[in-house]
Amino acid sequence: MGATQAQRMRLGEQLIASGLLSDEKLELALKVCDRTKERLGSVLERMGFVRPEDIARMVSRQYGVRYISPKMMSKVQLDGEALEKIGEEFAKENNMVPVLFKKRPLLIMYDLLNTKAKDRAVKLIGKREVVLSTKSAIATTLALFAFAELDANSIVEQTRDTIAQGEINELLTYLLGRAVLVGTSDIHIEPSGPVSMVRFRRDGVLMPELTLPRERHENLVNVLFGKSGIDLSDFHRLRDGRFSFEFAGRMLDVRFASSPTVEGPMVVMRILDDTRSLMRLEELGYTRHNLNCIAEILRHPYGVILMVGPTGSGKTTTLYSMLSTLNDSQRKILTVEDPVEIKLPSVQQVQVNEKAGVTFANAVRGFLRQDPDIILVGEIRDEETAREAYRAANTGHLVFSTLHANTAMEAFGRLTDLGLEAFRLADGTVGVVAQRLLRRLCQKCSKPEKRSGFERPRKAGPGCASCSKGYVGRSVVAEVLQLSPELIELVHQARPASELLANAMKAGFMNMLVNGCFLIDQGQSSVEEVERVIGPINEESLDALVKYRKIEGGN
Ligand SMILES: [Zn+2]
Repeated sequence: MGATQAQRMRLGEQLIASGLLSDEKLELALKVCDRTKERLGSVLERMGFVRPEDIARMVSRQYGVRYISPKMMSKVQLDGEALEKIGEEFAKENNMVPVLFKKRPLLIMYDLLNTKAKDRAVKLIGKREVVLSTKSAIATTLALFAFAELDANSIVEQTRDTIAQGEINELLTYLLGRAVLVGTSDIHIEPSGPVSMVRFRRDGVLMPELTLPRERHENLVNVLFGKSGIDLSDFHRLRDGRFSFEFAGRMLDVRFASSPTVEGPMVVMRILDDTRSLMRLEELGYTRHNLNCIAEILRHPYGVILMVGPTGSGKTTTLYSMLSTLNDSQRKILTVEDPVEIKLPSVQQVQVNEKAGVTFANAVRGFLRQDPDIILVGEIRDEETAREAYRAANTGHLVFSTLHANTAMEAFGRLTDLGLEAFRLADGTVGVVAQRLLRRLCQKCSKPEKRSGFERPRKAGPGCASCSKGYVGRSVVAEVLQLSPELIELVHQARPASELLANAMKAGFMNMLVNGCFLIDQGQSSVEEVERVIGPINEESLDALVKYRKIEGGN
């Protein structure tokens, strides 16, 4: 049964009304629907116009069924008995999975209009509430079925007795699949006394996931080395490798780095899931003030926009979100990245490959002959790349890049250190965003506390069922620097960062610490967390907080 015209229109209209889709994109997608006879939702997903989660949420509202987010899916328990009745293959083909959620039996479906499959399932397992989720969340849950029956410990038990390659492979698939399901991208495997510890980084903090018998540590590392063609005798050297693995119908890229410790090789794996959804800027947790400043920077037709912050501060996520706000069919966007982390729809992305002569600098030079409007350079880390980026900006392109610096002001000094002249920085730079990620307080177990200067401060609780150690998820904390004419003049004269800062503050620049204070003020993060990530809170930041409150409170 196909979607009716009316239903299609409703989904399209709702997406437009929520600001998730533009008229032009809807029109384009509807044309594709007419040609391919696909559902509007699938076309919008495939073309990358709307995220699968947003479509699912919208459809669930339209049909009055509940929606389970991919993140929530990691908390459901697969109903193995029911799945056996329906048949795993049938469930896979029809994107459905029976589960228990807080002990309630549910049938999770992706396509609510697939009544044939639904009826058949109901006949076999009885009537139960139907809820909606995304295709990939359902596929992931099903793919983990083989392991759901065995829990992690029994897999470990199994590998204790045998050292068959197959079992270790299965263990690896389990770890990678589990990581995808819980939404982590980093897996740490460390030898530690009599065991091998497997930890996942979740919301910026490492959490133990599994403990393996020590004998299996080298087996697991062996399999990793083997998969990426590294010589096994290289256990004692620093090595990195990469391999692909198929999971739930997707190809995922895994990169890993191994370091020899006195106890054996220590490995960190990172999963690059290029189907991972893009976040909208508004969802990253920027304050209204920062969102407005970013919007103003993005209005520049050319110039360099820099993202600064340490590794793991969410720079790439923000850059991708910025690009996607500019990504309409009228602009050509080219990127050179190392690695390409997310595949952006209708953006041409190039992977750095030094052996083949594709460096950041060379790629930008080549791009200029391709008539782009916007260029993303993954990172500026040498003079040549810095020069090419600024040259591209001077010839009328909007250039985005990242830089290792702690604050927005430090970006100028960093580029000068690389060898760029002050006048180029002054002429080319249109904005600098510096950011970090702060853990958010769990609203269920945190407690109010008294702190002078703050309105509603809270402190972290001991931890509860819905958080880890009092915190849940993370929020961006940022400072956004726009270059005023006076500031440009000071940059031109290569004045010290402190002088630039004083000038910018006069013009209304709010540094990251003030943003941090605002999160404390709102009870969203704690004094301890802000000081851990940004630095000590001072009088100046508390004074500025008063102004910040007004900006955020206004309208
Ligand atoms: Zn809690």
